Amino acid sequence: TAMTLAAAMAACGSSEKTADQASGTGDNSGALVGVTMPTRSSERWIGDGDNLKKQLEAKGYKVDLQYAEDDIPTQVNQLDNQITRGAKLLIIASIDGTAITTQLQSAKEKNIPVIAYDRLIRDSPNVDYYATFDNFKVGVQQATSLLVGLKLLKEDGTTKGDAKGPLNVELFAGSPDDNNATFFFNGAMSVLQPYIDNKTLVVKSGQTDFKQVAILRWKPETAQKRMEDLLTSTYKGGVKVDGVLSPYDGLSIGILSALKSSGYGTTGQPYPVVTGQDAEVASVKSIIAGEQFATIYKDTRKLADTTVQMADAVLKGEKPATNNDKDYDNGVKVVPAQLLDSVIIYKSNYEKELVESGYYKASDLQ
Ligand code: BGC
Repeated sequence: TAMTLAAAMAACGSSEKTADQASGTGDNSGALVGVTMPTRSSERWIGDGDNLKKQLEAKGYKVDLQYAEDDIPTQVNQLDNQITRGAKLLIIASIDGTAITTQLQSAKEKNIPVIAYDRLIRDSPNVDYYATFDNFKVGVQQATSLLVGLKLLKEDGTTKGDAKGPLNVELFAGSPDDNNATFFFNGAMSVLQPYIDNKTLVVKSGQTDFKQVAILRWKPETAQKRMEDLLTSTYKGGVKVDGVLSPYDGLSIGILSALKSSGYGTTGQPYPVVTGQDAEVASVKSIIAGEQFATIYKDTRKLADTTVQMADAVLKGEKPATNNDKDYDNGVKVVPAQLLDSVIIYKSNYEKELVESGYYKASDLQ
């Protein structure tokens, strides 16, 4: 039998109700939570999904965890199914943040709250909360690591006196349908633009607009192809590329492989400075081997933890903690967000940050 709203509110002992929960269902203990992740092709999302499931189950919820292999219709179906199966809350890491508006509308009609996970869902009023990292700062860190690799900055972020230019760099950005990609790029450009303006850095291809450098669906092979094209056009005849801003480890691996085919990675011709993101195993190994220069570590265990706390609060009719209520405008509303911190990983600190923290075992990286 259904609890009255007043009884439900009394039972959970909180007077602060979110708009959604005010019309919600009351006792959600043991409820089904729908979790949709974009793809298994990148390790981080596998870890994200596993951690969310484990932690939600530890709080007594049932979990439907789905991966869509970067296919939008698949993700749409998964959400429809979760709604039909009676999910009481949805946690969504979207592929295209604008393609699921209909599903969000039907969630709204059934009073199912929605938490955007890592990626903001755009163009819908039916997104309640957002759990993520400070995405602009991730971009700042990527650019900072590029400057450190180019010996324009020291690892502590201070300027090196002996900086030399001009240095040739190329820029890559993530998928244009992922809201994070512009945040990363804008963060990175906020650091790089002054160096480009004073000609310390030269983007030799001239491709500096987000649209020119974005890689649809974050596909490593697309980045590899673009790097190959740059090498055979802009860098023919012995001109060297000194640095590549790459926003994701998968792209970095593709970019490094294009560089290798074109003769980089030897004693006479070392790899340019290549950045990354996610601290994926292959890239950390590459950093240890002196190939990729740096990556950005986002502790996905913490993101899952934050999201589960948010979900649990919402399901109990409480207001979850947020620490940013201004920067994530999805085109229709500003979504209250909880942002986490990220760390630049170099060869010098991977052990401390990744192994000592238990994120990886030393043997994972051998
Ligand atoms: C995530 C990054 C990831 C990228 C590709 C972004 O939305 O924030 O961590 O590298 O997607 O999967």
